[in-house]
Amino acid sequence: MLPPGHLAAGFLTSYGLLKLSNVAFTPTEAGFILLAGTILGAIPDIDFIPFFSSRKSMRFTDSDTHRRYITHAPIIWLTIGLITALIAPNSFIWVLGLLIWLAPWSHFMGDSLEFGVRWLWPLSNRYFALGKYPDRDLATEKTLIRHYWGIIRAYMTQSITFPLEAVLLLSAAAVLVKEFLL
Ligand SMILES: [Zn+2]
Repeated sequence: MLPPGHLAAGFLTSYGLLKLSNVAFTPTEAGFILLAGTILGAIPDIDFIPFFSSRKSMRFTDSDTHRRYITHAPIIWLTIGLITALIAPNSFIWVLGLLIWLAPWSHFMGDSLEFGVRWLWPLSNRYFALGKYPDRDLATEKTLIRHYWGIIRAYMTQSITFPLEAVLLLSAAAVLVKEFLL
């Protein structure tokens, strides 16, 4: 899933949490929760920075993945989020704690469709995925532009993640229109 899909999933998670918690937050608090959830939905991918800087190459290969870094470990976000929620002095921090857990987990669900996430780490290093990502043979293209175009083309035409990403973006847009424009 690309960053827009992860951002949309994080936004929808925080919106759902706001609705389910049934707490009367101020508009500033509600806005902060929506913004925090949106960012938290994409934050696990911050490991692209150490991934690319350690490899000194902008190319993807099938044998290496940025998802081996700790920001893609579900148990980390579950632990930090639950501790925050348990010691929360008020409902605002309580919802933020739940969000620290659930928004990154929306990211991992998106990654688990085809790419794989180490759901059982540190007990197991196995990557769990529902399907298999389309063939990456285009990743051997000689120029970076053709390399990335090949990846994007394969993603849009063969991946089951792409239609789900479109649904997430449309749903987030529908919520934004309903809540803020109508
Ligand atoms: Zn990811």
